[in-house]
Order: sequence, then structure tokens, then C-alpha cells
Amino acid sequence: MIYNVAALLSGEVGATRVYSIEDESIAHEDGDFHGVSGVVRLTRTDRGILLRGEATGGGVNECSRCLEPAVSVLHTAFEDEYFPINGDLGPGSSLLRQEVVEEEEIPEFWIDEANDMDTSEAIRQGFVSETPMAPLCRPDCAGICPECGTNRNTNPCECEIVAIDPRLAGLLDLKIPENQDIHI
Ligand SMILES: [Zn+2]
Ligand SMILES: [Zn+2]
Repeated sequence: MIYNVAALLSGEVGATRVYSIEDESIAHEDGDFHGVSGVVRLTRTDRGILLRGEATGGGVNECSRCLEPAVSVLHTAFEDEYFPINGDLGPGSSLLRQEVVEEEEIPEFWIDEANDMDTSEAIRQGFVSETPMAPLCRPDCAGICPECGTNRNTNPCECEIVAIDPRLAGLLDLKIPENQDIHI
């Protein structure tokens, strides 16, 4: 998913290369994605290279109920512009050197000194935005028993789970003082 774009950068605006991605992996400290397949289109713009494409891949998270691994198959479409760090490849390629750029306008994606463009971070961010907020290892995951703490998928326990309204739970602790007569 790293492409050398030296030829594209020295070509005409609008020139496009298309690459397919097959069964790649993206490793990251926040979580890896595997079996990544898809297609990317790299188009020369007047400032750099526009990356467009779509990809499918699998991510592994913690199941939100039982904390075991939960695999999510994700599909993302992405569009991000990359800017060359080299200043000698045509107009607009030296964005930071020759122009005054506001802090919030500093681009996120760069083409490195060797004119290599790594698309994996843009694809990874696409997958992250598609990852479910509460992943499940399976749709009917039984979760962890709140009484004994065992995983009820693999080890069903005998605990009776009595749901008590937390606002009423305090009433169970109320004791009537012993030296007080109660007249009914
Ligand atoms: Zn689970
Ligand atoms: Zn239990």
C-alpha cells in the first residue's frame, strides 16, 4: 500500500494510476486490520496527489459484553489529498516552504522524500470510523455474569440475577432501631 509517485508528480494534473490491494495488513498500536482488499486511485492535483478508493478488511476488538475478541468486517470509502515534502516537483509541491499556511491547514498526509506515498493510514482511519461503538463477538453473546464473573458463553453459571433498581437498593440496608416499639 506504499506507491512511488515520482512519475505521477512530474506528470500532468489529472493523470491517474489505479492499484488494487489484495489481502494486505495494516498494523497500528490502536488495532490491526487484516485481509485488506480494495482499489485505490491516485490522481495528480495542482498541489499533490488525491487518493480515492474503497477497501474491505477485518478488525479485531474487544467484545463489549464478554471482553473476548470480536471480529468486525468493515467496508470503507475514502478520499484524502497527499502533499509532497519535496519542493522540486512542480507547482504547489512546496506547500509548507513557500506559502504561509495556517496551523489548521497543515495537511495530515504527506508523500515522503523518496516520493513514496503510504496509503495505509488513510485506509486505517476509514476502517476506524466504520468500527462499531460496541462490538460483539457474536450477536447473541451472553456476556459476563455480574455475580460470579464467569463468561456465560463458555461456562453458564447458576447465579440468579435479580435486577434491583439502584435507586431502591439502599432501602434493603434499612434497619429498625431495636429499642423502639412499633405500634401497628
Ligand atoms: Zn462476547
Ligand atoms: Zn454467575
